Amino acid sequence: MRQTSATTPRSPDPSVITALRATIDGQVTTPEDPDYDRRRAVWNGMIDRRPALIVSCASASDISAALAVARTLQLPVAVRGGGHSVAGHSTCDDGIVIDLSPLNAVEIDPDARLAHAGGGVTWGELDAAAQAYGLAAPGGVFSRTGIAGLTLGGGYGWLRSTYGLACDNLLEAEVVTADGRLAIAGEGVGQDPELLWGLRGGGGNFGIVTRFTFQLHPVGPDVYFVFVVHDGEGEATERVLRFFRDFCDTAPAAVNPLAVCGIVPADPELFPATTHGRRYVILGALYVGPIEEGQRVLRPLIELAEPLADFSGVMPFVDVQQLWDADYPDGMRYYWKSLNLARLEDEVIERIAVRAREQPSPKSTVDLWFVAGASRHAPAGAGAFHGRASALVLGAAANWADPTDDEPNIRWARELIAELEPYSDGSRYLNFAGLQEEGEPMMRAGFGPHYERLIALKRRYDPTNLFRLNQNIDPAQA
Ligand code: FAD
Repeated sequence: MRQTSATTPRSPDPSVITALRATIDGQVTTPEDPDYDRRRAVWNGMIDRRPALIVSCASASDISAALAVARTLQLPVAVRGGGHSVAGHSTCDDGIVIDLSPLNAVEIDPDARLAHAGGGVTWGELDAAAQAYGLAAPGGVFSRTGIAGLTLGGGYGWLRSTYGLACDNLLEAEVVTADGRLAIAGEGVGQDPELLWGLRGGGGNFGIVTRFTFQLHPVGPDVYFVFVVHDGEGEATERVLRFFRDFCDTAPAAVNPLAVCGIVPADPELFPATTHGRRYVILGALYVGPIEEGQRVLRPLIELAEPLADFSGVMPFVDVQQLWDADYPDGMRYYWKSLNLARLEDEVIERIAVRAREQPSPKSTVDLWFVAGASRHAPAGAGAFHGRASALVLGAAANWADPTDDEPNIRWARELIAELEPYSDGSRYLNFAGLQEEGEPMMRAGFGPHYERLIALKRRYDPTNLFRLNQNIDPAQA
C-alpha cells in the first residue's frame, strides 16, 4: 500500500541516542526496542511508518533537546498529540516522532472557568476533569482524539453552535519553537497575539504546543441529547435530511446538530434483528440548556418518523462525548475526505443519498456537520480558522478492515466528494482531510483569505519548515 514503508529506518549514531537519553526525562524508543511497534502505531491502520526515533517528551526542555537532534541530523520531525491525524501526519519514516503523550496533565480553575492542559491530553481526559465542576470546553464528538490537533485545526463538536469551535476557546498556549525556544501565544503582556491568531486554526505549523489554556463553559453534567436512528431505505434518507436541514435552519444556538448516513450494524444488543443491514440516518443533537426545554425543542427530530432505534435521553455529557468511541477502533483502515457546502440544496441531498447507497463497506458513513450559531460567527479576535460562511461540512468517511478492500473504499470517498465539488463554497475543513491527492489545492482552500498572513507568521516562527508534517504552510512559497 502507498502509505506503507517496509524498509528498516536509518538509525542515528548510537552516541546521539545515548546523549539524548541522558538529557531528557522522557523516553527514547528506537527500532531495536521491544515496544517499538506498539509505540510507532497510529490510529489509522492505512499508515504504517517506521521512524528512526520516537521521543516521548515529558517537558518543554525534552522537546527542545529532541528538536536539536532533528536539526543537527536533518531528520524529518513528526509531532504526535493524540495520534488521530486522519492523514497520518503524526508519524514519519526515518525521522523523529515527538510523542507528547506524557504531557497529559489537566488543571481546572473553576472560578476563572479555565482549563490548562498539556499538549498530549485527549478530549476524554479534559472532559472528565472539567465536568467535575460542571464545565466543558468545546472539543470534538469523540473522546480519544488529542486536544492538540483538533484545536489547532479548528474543532467541530457537540458544543459548537452554543460556544464556538475548539480554537475559538483557546486563550493561551505555550509553544516550543523550531529553534527550541519557548514562546507564549496570548494577548497578555509579553505574549504574542499574532501567534495565538495563527494557532486558532493554522495547525501545527508554528511550533509544538506544550500547554493549552481554554475558556470553559457551564455544561451538564447531565444534558438532554437526541440520538435517533431513522430508517434511510428507499427515499427516506432524502426525506429525513430535508427535514433536518429545515429544522437546523431555524434552530436556536442551544441546538448542536449532526446527521450521519450509514448502515445498521448486526448488533442485537443495540438494534432489533429486523433492522440489521438497513440504511439509516442518525440525527444527533445536544441541547445546551434546561433539560425540559431541550426535550421540547428537539422532540420533532424523534417524532418525524417511526425510528429504527432511539437512544435519546438525559445523560452525562461525558457519555455523549464517548458515544462513538467504539466505532473507530485503532488500526482499522480509514480514508476520509470532506467538503464545505454553502447550502444543503435538495439536489445535493439527492446526490448524497444516491452515493451513500453505494458505500462498499457497511462501516462507512456520510457525515453532515451543520455550521450554525456560534461556529458560524467569528468571535472578537477570531483566529486563522476559515470556513464559517459554509452551511455544512460534509464528510465522506470510508472505514473498513481488510486491506484487499482498499481500492473500492478509497474510490467511493473520492467519487462522492468529486461529485459534490461543484456545490462547494471553495473552503475546506483541514482536520477531516485524509491522504491528499497529488496537486490538490488544499491549503488555499483550507486557509482562504488568511493564507498570506499565515505564510508571514510561518516565516517568523519556522523559516526552514522544520514542522512540515501537517497541513503545511510552506514558508518558501511566493
Ligand atoms: P495528531 O495525529 O497527534 O496530530 C495531528 C496534527 O496536529 C499533526 O500535524 C501534528 O503534527 C499536529 N500536532 C499534534 N499535537 C501537537 C502539538 N501539541 N503542538 C503542535 N502541533 C501538534 N475533528 C473535529 O473537528 N471534530 C470531531 O468530532 C472529530 N472527530 C474525530 C474522530 C476521529 C475518530 C478522528 C480520527 C478524527 C476526528 N476529528 C474530528 C479530526 C481531528 O480533529 C484531527 O484528526 C486531529 O488532527 C486529531 O488531533 P490529534 O492530536 O489526535 O492528532
